[in-house]
Amino acid sequence: MTPSPRKDLPLAERLLFEVLKPGRYLCSEVNAYRKSFEKASTRFVLAFPDVYEVGMSHLGLRLLYHLLNRLEGVVADRVYTPWTDFEGKLRESGEPLRGIESGMPLKAFDFVGFSLQYELSYTNLLTTLDLAGIPAASEDRREGMPWVVGGGPCAYNPEPLARVLDFVVLGEAEEVLPEIIQVFESWKASQGTRTEFLETVAAIPGIYVPSFFDDSYHADGTIRALRPRHPHLSVLRKRIIRNLDETSPIPDTPLVPMVDIVHNRLSLEIARGCTRGCRFCQAGFIYRPVRERNPGTILQKAEEALAHSGYEELSVLSLSTGDYCRIVPLLTGLMDRFAHEKVAVSLPSMRVGTLTPELMGLIRRVRKTGFTLAPEAGSERLRQVINKGISDEDLLSTARTAFGLGWRLLKLYFMIGLPTETEDDLDAMVRLCLEVWKLAKPSKSSINLSIATFVPKPLTPFQWVGQISREEMEDRLERLKARLRRPGIHIRWNRPDQSVMEAVFARGDRRMGEVLMRAWRSGARFDGWSETFRPEIWERAFEQSGLSPSFYAQRERSPEEILPWDHLSAGVKRDFLWEESLRAGKGEYTPDCRRGRCSSCGVCDHKTVQPELRKEAEPLVLSTQSNAGAQADEEVVYLLRYSKTGVMRFYGQLEIARSFQRAIRRSGLPAAYSRGFHPHLKLSFAGALPLGLESLVEEACLTLLGHVDPRRVQIDLNRVLPPGLTVEEVAPAPRTGDRPRSRKATYLVEPLSPWEVRSLCQSRAKNPWEILVKKTKRGEIRAKLEEILLDLRPRGDTALEMDLYEGEQVCFRPTAILEQLLREPAQRFMGCLIRKIASSELLDTKGDEDVCRAHH
Ligand code: SF4
Repeated sequence: MTPSPRKDLPLAERLLFEVLKPGRYLCSEVNAYRKSFEKASTRFVLAFPDVYEVGMSHLGLRLLYHLLNRLEGVVADRVYTPWTDFEGKLRESGEPLRGIESGMPLKAFDFVGFSLQYELSYTNLLTTLDLAGIPAASEDRREGMPWVVGGGPCAYNPEPLARVLDFVVLGEAEEVLPEIIQVFESWKASQGTRTEFLETVAAIPGIYVPSFFDDSYHADGTIRALRPRHPHLSVLRKRIIRNLDETSPIPDTPLVPMVDIVHNRLSLEIARGCTRGCRFCQAGFIYRPVRERNPGTILQKAEEALAHSGYEELSVLSLSTGDYCRIVPLLTGLMDRFAHEKVAVSLPSMRVGTLTPELMGLIRRVRKTGFTLAPEAGSERLRQVINKGISDEDLLSTARTAFGLGWRLLKLYFMIGLPTETEDDLDAMVRLCLEVWKLAKPSKSSINLSIATFVPKPLTPFQWVGQISREEMEDRLERLKARLRRPGIHIRWNRPDQSVMEAVFARGDRRMGEVLMRAWRSGARFDGWSETFRPEIWERAFEQSGLSPSFYAQRERSPEEILPWDHLSAGVKRDFLWEESLRAGKGEYTPDCRRGRCSSCGVCDHKTVQPELRKEAEPLVLSTQSNAGAQADEEVVYLLRYSKTGVMRFYGQLEIARSFQRAIRRSGLPAAYSRGFHPHLKLSFAGALPLGLESLVEEACLTLLGHVDPRRVQIDLNRVLPPGLTVEEVAPAPRTGDRPRSRKATYLVEPLSPWEVRSLCQSRAKNPWEILVKKTKRGEIRAKLEEILLDLRPRGDTALEMDLYEGEQVCFRPTAILEQLLREPAQRFMGCLIRKIASSELLDTKGDEDVCRAHH
């Protein structure tokens, strides 16, 4: 009888053997809080409705994670939407979705707070709730169930989710969340009803309770009224924090993921808000006014965060980084302090015109990190319409400087379908791209060109305009792609049908909730991912609900029409937005209020809320403490023997290598770096242990500057490595020529059935000439069984030890051998413990070539 997978593993962990990227669902991150769930009086789970790699890259959620966990009595866990394979496994097993740190079912939390960043993630939100066993409709949630909360940019029009969300946080959550928790704890103590809690929480400024508003519609489908049930709830205004450094401090112990995430670096928010006034940009209106962090504080926080994380890249973030008043002194300070530690600095969101040669010169001191230039529109006329305020020459001169300073790749970002766009604007886009391409050609540089489709967003001057049709998008994209097909230009574009859906949900009303639910029930998942988006499901859902996507996406709204978000305010006046839309039509430019006069958008009261004004030439002296010059010249190589056990078996070799690199940086050991354009730590690994296997005898070579006591290396590394990775021994490494070419690796496999143990032992004895086949990228490797499986010994009735040949190139997975000899599928062995327990040099064997040739 075949034994089932190891019973000692928690069920959720056992399921991970059968999914892609199991590390997504495990909390092995360095600096995770792991507070006691039982002792907490308020349990909050921050939910991101997309996969871990996307959610963990979101800075806002990470800020809130630290903010909540610093509150006494509060535990903040995280959850990301399981990819479809894990969703399937959870459904099959009946296992509920759990917080990744506490391992507690989501249903056991008091709050599930969703970050609403992208309209096409709404079905993922429903998946998350469903897998947690939490009813999707707020009215179906009973006493003791968590409160489902939403926040983020999409919360400014949460109407498609109005039946799902218990309440919504408008604006910046840093001050509101502690207020909500206070209200919650008093309500819990008073044993009040759910309605009583909602009534109290609705009194907090910045909180919107959708169920306290009723919607009604005209015969033509437009909104007749969105009426509050209580007269004091008319227009709800967002919350603004005044001082970022005080209210939203940069975490000095940032989370460090094991899995490679989209933005795998230290992100430092240096400012919030942007008042350039690009008329299509929702962020530019909802995050007003501009507030900057103190450069000295940023530098100090960067120092602490890098020491605690070991990140090798630091990203300086704001909506328009070049507009930070003291960007040059700040960048100079960062480079002076961290360049010798080979920490690269990136400025991903730079407005054309602010990326000066001086800034580029500073960035390249360590590594030429990438940046994107976003003219958005091809012609200067259209850029006037959208209030972009940059000329062709601004773009060309930035590109010229970048290529001149050695950048070999430039990213350009354009949009199609902007209001008033004509054939001439598209011609201009092609001309401009080709001019940049010509500048790239002499240095054989290339261009990554991203073309997005304009999506009209709420609370922008373009909230009233219609989106172009899907057919028109496809037509314009095809023509652009054909005209820009050149060697060295790589074009990426958004799927038109996804852009239509984004527009539908961005300006959808409450009736869209029904479409959403129908589509989700029919299998819509990860709609923001082109490989999983299924337009036919959505078409059916619209038909069944009697609604039309074009009503929401393509229809132009009149200024009198009630918009679904008219009762929610980001502080910018509706009249101001309308005025701006008229100015767009006339091509009139509205200057940045930080450089000129206030255009009275409505956000500031100029007493408690006001913008941080530019201090153009203000000198700034940053006290930087540089360790440059502390390096010794002599390089000494150490051999590390380490074990990889427990959850670490779910991480691949690249993840293990990155984890070691960051641990070495955190340890403060004097690591040596390679020279060249992309300096990296001198650390190499002997072989790659396949995913799912444990080992007590892995090896790596680390080069340090100068002699360090091996015991100290071991202690310093073990202090900072994540649980499951342990350095067992450190010794000076043998010279390269003295390192063994081939090894005997011993694996312990358990549990197997007694029949399987007997059968395996017999098959090697009976058929030593059986040919093992391994498929690699470079072709097939074939070898005789006896050349690879050197020995096989039972250990009791249900375990065995296998000695395997492992050469420089030839290495067979123990599971592959088990599969072939027992004629069982790979899944059979997924729950087995397979651990490498010994590894020794093979003195008298042939090399890889002999082993592979032997079967001929
Ligand atoms: S109120 Fe005036 S100063 Fe404040 S963000 Fe608006 S335009 Fe700028």
